[in-house]
Amino acid sequence: MIQQKTKQLPKNWEEIEKNGNKFYFEFEPGKEEKIKFIKNPKEPFVGNGGVFGIKVDKLFFEELNDKEKIAVLWHEYYHKLYNFKKMPMLELKSIFGLRFNYNYSLEFEADKFSALKNSANDCLSFLKTGKRLYNENKVRYNPKKHPSIKDRIKQIEEIKNDKPKD
Ligand SMILES: [Zn+2]
Repeated sequence: MIQQKTKQLPKNWEEIEKNGNKFYFEFEPGKEEKIKFIKNPKEPFVGNGGVFGIKVDKLFFEELNDKEKIAVLWHEYYHKLYNFKKMPMLELKSIFGLRFNYNYSLEFEADKFSALKNSANDCLSFLKTGKRLYNENKVRYNPKKHPSIKDRIKQIEEIKNDKPKD
């Protein structure tokens, strides 16, 4: 597969089939991350690729607007940067049955990161689209891995209220 370095995300799935599914997205000047587009990954529409970068499902193109796409990528970028660092802690805590809580906190942190480093409005918009996708059963909600979308939306609304300029 061809690897492209670009700030411009592919516009649709056809473009990926034509040009290859690996891209490098520049989150901050000089800080780029590999993004791999996969048709039906195990995880919902955006998966955490860990050391392999960020994995993104086809739904990305079908359901998200351009701003929401970027908000999702920032959320996943957080997982890429911090999940592994926090993993030993996570395993330790799982012994005491706190594992799910800890996973939840990673999700809240990833949303917060996207809101603060990119845009609270766009993060909120992506979460609301997420809520719709859960409701329409286009993405299956896994309560073991994700806190309720209501609580995630609430957190970003609070951040938005603290940051009126966004
Ligand atoms: Zn996440």
